[in-house]
Amino acid sequence: MQAEIVWKTARMAKSDRNSKWKQNLRRRLLAWFRANARDLPWRSTRDPYHVWISEIMLQQTQVVTVVPYFQRFIAEFPTIRSLATAHEDAVLRLWEGLGYYRRARQLHKAAQVIVHEHNGVFPHDPESVKALPGIGRYTAGAILSIAFEAREPILEANTIRVLSRLIAYRDDTTSTEAQRVLWRAAEDFLPRKNVGDFNQAMMELGSEVCTPREPRCEACPVAMLCPTRAEGLQEVIPAPKKKTNYEDAFEACVVIWRNGKVLLRRCEEGERWAGLWDFPRFEVDATRGAKLQRELGDGVRRLTGYDVGIGEHLTTIKHGVTRFRIMLTCYQADHLSGRKGRGEFAWVRPKQLDVYALSVTGRQVAKVVAGSLSK
Ligand code: SF4
Repeated sequence: MQAEIVWKTARMAKSDRNSKWKQNLRRRLLAWFRANARDLPWRSTRDPYHVWISEIMLQQTQVVTVVPYFQRFIAEFPTIRSLATAHEDAVLRLWEGLGYYRRARQLHKAAQVIVHEHNGVFPHDPESVKALPGIGRYTAGAILSIAFEAREPILEANTIRVLSRLIAYRDDTTSTEAQRVLWRAAEDFLPRKNVGDFNQAMMELGSEVCTPREPRCEACPVAMLCPTRAEGLQEVIPAPKKKTNYEDAFEACVVIWRNGKVLLRRCEEGERWAGLWDFPRFEVDATRGAKLQRELGDGVRRLTGYDVGIGEHLTTIKHGVTRFRIMLTCYQADHLSGRKGRGEFAWVRPKQLDVYALSVTGRQVAKVVAGSLSK
């Protein structure tokens, strides 16, 4: 019965989405955005550099988290050139806590490409923009439409939800076919003018009104055009995501001391926090006892080349990364002997740890180390 309703809804919605329907949608959405857009720091300008930084930071991250990071970043690197000439460590230090550090490294690389290949000026043409590191179809569409008013569509988490509901698209939105349908709708709905505002309005609507659970349809400017609302299908469109099956994992990190300094290791390409610094960290099987002590010594030797004397337990941190629920056990150790192994290491006084861009748990451990010294 419900399938029949949905099919009818989709059929109705399709025939309803004529040019009048689209005009109505554009007009209502743009008027609503002008009256309701949040005052966000990157919205005070159309500078493509600012739009670009904000769009990269907003990927997988909430607006409220991004605002202070954006302000600090722009204050430290006010131009593309200043970002391009910065040391990668300085960029990562400013990004610390924002997560998905690959974004920061690619941003830095892209700034260097813009300086070398485009004379420091953010390119206007879609092909050049999409060729920059870290910029895919969505980010290119956002920058080009917001900064240059190019008629480019966007598709990201918020607009996927809004579009699915506006066209009553019921299937899994992650499939190739769904992406094709939704990109086409995003393109089809674009106005000829005010494209940047329209794209932002779609995202704003998804973020503030057309939320995943209990959308505020009563406050929605396009409610009278929405087939999903008409049929009361907000909870099933878009199709609920499959549940993540979480796995437990055990890891250890060791704070190794030598002459009042602790050892940091830079995470390598392909590792979870590539480019960031961390205390030597590795997977373990045991969580306590003699077996763990052996694993700690072996793990440190394998990773750093050093032999250490394992000391006392420092702290245990529980955190999640993708589908893993990690229990991280941290120990102190004294450096005994051995030669530095492959990789980049630094012996650092605890007071200097602030200067280094650390992994999220590395920073937590650094705070515990600082706290233990001040007792
Ligand atoms: Fe979303 Fe409701 Fe607006 Fe439809 S009416 S677009 S479901 S908020």
